[in-house]
Amino acid sequence: MNIQKQIVSLKAKLGPSLCILAHHYQADDVVIHADIVGDSLELARQIPELAAEHIVFCGVHFMAETAAILAGANQHVYAPDVSAGCVMANMAPAPLLETILNRLQSGGKQVIPLTYVNSSAAVKAVCGRFGGSVCTSANAAVMLRWALDQGDAVLFLPDANLGQNTATAVGLGASAIKILNIRGGGQYVQALEPDHRLLLWPGVCAVHAKIHAEHIQKIRNRHPQGTILVHPECDPQVVALADGAGSTSYLINKVQQAATGRTMHIGTEANLVHRLQRQHPDKTICSLHPIWCSNMAKTTAEKLLDTLTHLQIQSVVRVGESIAASARLALERMLAVCS
Ligand code: SF4
Repeated sequence: MNIQKQIVSLKAKLGPSLCILAHHYQADDVVIHADIVGDSLELARQIPELAAEHIVFCGVHFMAETAAILAGANQHVYAPDVSAGCVMANMAPAPLLETILNRLQSGGKQVIPLTYVNSSAAVKAVCGRFGGSVCTSANAAVMLRWALDQGDAVLFLPDANLGQNTATAVGLGASAIKILNIRGGGQYVQALEPDHRLLLWPGVCAVHAKIHAEHIQKIRNRHPQGTILVHPECDPQVVALADGAGSTSYLINKVQQAATGRTMHIGTEANLVHRLQRQHPDKTICSLHPIWCSNMAKTTAEKLLDTLTHLQIQSVVRVGESIAASARLALERMLAVCS
């Protein structure tokens, strides 16, 4: 029996005790086995509703951690490859975040941390303890407005591009925004300055950073009638030149809603763009610039089969309760704001 048939057979055997979740950036041979496919927000929203005892998360580690935090006490979350990390999430270590928040607040001002879901559970826990929350690319503007109302300023992390693009969307001017210098263990960070409402952590998605303004200009010259849509992890210059920017769900919806015959150039992970090409043969869907996330690619059908075969202890994702409780608080604030 080939791998795909074995997965189908194991799924049938495990029945409702199993739920497989997959992010849009996963490859087709994994996605076809998923019970739920979505972006980070859609998947996080589903977790508290799931009854399955075994939740297999096909994505990267921070997503599986989020699932483990939101899952019930009798549920187990598994990652087919526990080494599938996220370069951006690794750019924001929790102890450094805590040091920097304390320095920023040393003048008596309240700085609310708002972390992109692409961050460790420990970072989410710091956000929970400091009165902050979590956002995804789908709700970043709503959550930034919420966070701005909670204190004197917001520290947005780890993605400076998403932070800047969201600031533009909510109308925050350049003078209100500062990119933090986090070098030297945070020693260069001072108490919050009165003009600053948004502080950006200097993190970046190494995958979306490969899309440059020149790629857009080249496509515009070749296909002036085409629509260019990008993910907001792209550089603000790229977002400014595109016809639209939004989460993976936004990109999918835009393609679905486009008229037959339309040409669209999509700036995000190639697995999603290729799937959209196959699902919409009546439209011309192209990669603005082909980019692949090597960490997303670590989850394969072989590893999924291995996880389902053994439901191994080594692929269980656990978050200690001391971190999980505060991280859950931060996530639940997001789910409440965006319910
Ligand atoms: S695409 Fe970028 S942000 Fe998403 S998992 Fe890969 S490195 Fe992290």
